[in-house]
Amino acid sequence: MSERPTYCLITYGCQMNDADSESVAGSLAARGWLRTDREDDADLILVNACVVRRSAEQRALGRVWQLAPLKRRRPDLVIGILGCLAQKDGQSLLEKLPHVDFVVGTRDLPQIGSLVEQIRETRQRIVAIGSIDQPLAFEASPLRDDLLRAMVTIMYGCNNDCSYCIVPRTRGRELSRPAEELAAEVAGLARGGWREVTLLGQNVNSYNDGRHDFPDLLRLIAQGNGIERIRYITSHPKDHSDRLIEAVATTPQLCENFHLPAQAGSNRVLERMNRGYTRDDYLRLIERIRRALPDAAITTDLMVGFPGETDADFEETLDLARAVRWDSAFMFMYSPRDGTPAAQWPNDVPPAVKKERLQRLIQLQEAISAEVNGALVGRGQEVLVEGPSRRSDRMLMGRTRGDKVVILDGPPEWIGRTVEVVITRAAAHTLFGASRTGFQPVQKQNPHPTSMHEVEVPGSEGKIACQPVQPQQDAHATIGER
Ligand code: SAM
Ligand code: SF4
Repeated sequence: MSERPTYCLITYGCQMNDADSESVAGSLAARGWLRTDREDDADLILVNACVVRRSAEQRALGRVWQLAPLKRRRPDLVIGILGCLAQKDGQSLLEKLPHVDFVVGTRDLPQIGSLVEQIRETRQRIVAIGSIDQPLAFEASPLRDDLLRAMVTIMYGCNNDCSYCIVPRTRGRELSRPAEELAAEVAGLARGGWREVTLLGQNVNSYNDGRHDFPDLLRLIAQGNGIERIRYITSHPKDHSDRLIEAVATTPQLCENFHLPAQAGSNRVLERMNRGYTRDDYLRLIERIRRALPDAAITTDLMVGFPGETDADFEETLDLARAVRWDSAFMFMYSPRDGTPAAQWPNDVPPAVKKERLQRLIQLQEAISAEVNGALVGRGQEVLVEGPSRRSDRMLMGRTRGDKVVILDGPPEWIGRTVEVVITRAAAHTLFGASRTGFQPVQKQNPHPTSMHEVEVPGSEGKIACQPVQPQQDAHATIGER
């Protein structure tokens, strides 16, 4: 029986939240904590919660309320709320939720280890919300869930002012991590057996550490460190340079995978959203990407029911979907967030109309995704095999360079390897393939030209499932919530 204290970490939200949770897990592991998925036995339960949409916030709060009976049974249990929800509501969360011991804001997460020790010693409730613009320095490396594909946060915060978005309030101003530090981290990951990294930021295009911009950073990271695939998310269309397209087109490790949130198709709505581009700007950007990389996978985020969105505005979003033909899209209903400019405006699209618009948009995009994927049938794809398929453990699941899920038949030894696959069947969210040798799936010269690299998977001590940061399998989460 272990004497080490145990914690359970529950995460809601985007990849940034997942990455924050991995950093928190690393800090706790460095102080001797063990992860568990059993809330009933945990000494500490942490909820890292998203507030981008009202529904996400309510789900997280509902989860926190569910912990109240456990706390009544075990008063020694320590419960904390982390991240965006803590940053947004701070002290008022402790007033509303008597069973919660502490809240820690987004830029205060590195203190998690010492805060928890302090609470266990003093039993005093704590609100740890410092300056929203302070730099972050975690005391240990992240404890990563996925042993093939790693998330690496390259910058914190956001300097944009999209009128609907709460993120600048919860995550502060942009702060870019030094490029050399990031290159060293990715090199370390490659040495540790990771094959793919996703570089994270709210707007990676505005990355700047004072000496390197984003294309510089990408080239530096790709330089001979052994990582096989590099992705990044999210790109803001207004800041997407041709240098970035060129970097992707000429750097073998950079996946031909562009996530470019359009949000809406109507110029009137885009202007009120304060997005900084027009529909034509967006279309021209897509054209430039496709001219350089005809097979690039392009995905997006779309929102319906923004204040003042008319039927005609919404038709323009549908029309943009038909014009661009995104590979897939995350689609949301607008929800007002306190403290944002749009929350002051009448939320005048009735819920039933929002719902109906979302349904129509999903239906259209699903049909487009199915057609776009259908065009891949008979073609070769390079697939990084991640594990058994969720639906059948006789099948494997992997991802293409365009981040599409592929189900294929193959031996378990392929897990962790890159294989060449021909697509035999396609649906809106999933491709099905068979391994084939003898074709070149990518135009660019790959630094690891043939498939089947061995992976040294590092030890996964303490890695357990309570944290819902799991690779998605057999489906690309596209609808409603992320
Ligand atoms: N930084 C990224 C960008 O600019 O595209 C996106 C970050 S945000 C966490 C992810 C997505 O949530 C946005 O692209 C937007 O579609 C959606 N979103 C943000 N605020 C929202 C709101 N108030 N209601 C509904 N969806 C929202
Ligand atoms: Fe929010 Fe806009 Fe910043 Fe994205 S770019 S995080 S949508 S403010």
